[in-house]
Amino acid sequence: MIPKTAGKALSEEELRAYSKCSQLWYYGGKYKATELGQVVQTATEYWMAQRTRTSQLNYNLTLTKGVEIGMIKAEIRKKNLAAKADQIQNQAFLWMDYFFRQFRQDEYFPVSGPLPWRVQIGKTAIDLRFSGAFRTKKNQTLHIINFTPLTKRQDQLNDPLTHLKLYALEKLVKYHGQRPQAVLHLLWSPDSKQEKLGYDIILGENLDPKYLKMISAQVQQIEAGFHFPVVPCKSFSCEFKNRCFPGASGKKK
Ligand code: SF4
Repeated sequence: MIPKTAGKALSEEELRAYSKCSQLWYYGGKYKATELGQVVQTATEYWMAQRTRTSQLNYNLTLTKGVEIGMIKAEIRKKNLAAKADQIQNQAFLWMDYFFRQFRQDEYFPVSGPLPWRVQIGKTAIDLRFSGAFRTKKNQTLHIINFTPLTKRQDQLNDPLTHLKLYALEKLVKYHGQRPQAVLHLLWSPDSKQEKLGYDIILGENLDPKYLKMISAQVQQIEAGFHFPVVPCKSFSCEFKNRCFPGASGKKK
């Protein structure tokens, strides 16, 4: 049988959508990061790309420029009132300053800006994305920056894609018994009640194979073209509600 994924790679957003609801994936829906999350991700990737190019980086200027690019890309000023847009811009700058100050220049050296990474599961290629990488001078441990659109700490740690990334990194970094092969820095969008981005780390040794099995099973289902709406569906804000359950909201399509 020719898999439904023949000739194309699945993105991590598509896999995440499938694990939430196979029908959502079928309609082309995705988890979306909050506006602050989108700005910080773009700015971080810009900063990492610049930092990888030169060690003589003007720290504040590069952060400011990265945040500005993030604001434009996410169309923050078009979609928000000026005061709200200013607030997002300030939060993004302060948060990035907090995040990057922990990577001291004499301890960490940057090895990559945004890094696409392809893995094969079953008959399907999966495209992962890392936002940047540092290596420590002392232990040579790889520190990878990773954004997700999920909004809770526990969701990041239980996200099958987090574990797929740890698995991908295992292949990238040589095993060394005395130190972690890699540290994944997880950054995520705040939910509507919080203003700060979430941040935690997970080590390569925390890879849980059960999540890899889960991803393999999902990829097999995608290859077979298997999808169905969740019943009962509690995703009240889903943009496809009327397509799955016509008339459920009382509105005509
Ligand atoms: S409405 Fe519910 S079942 Fe339909 S696509 Fe959205 S999340 Fe899935």
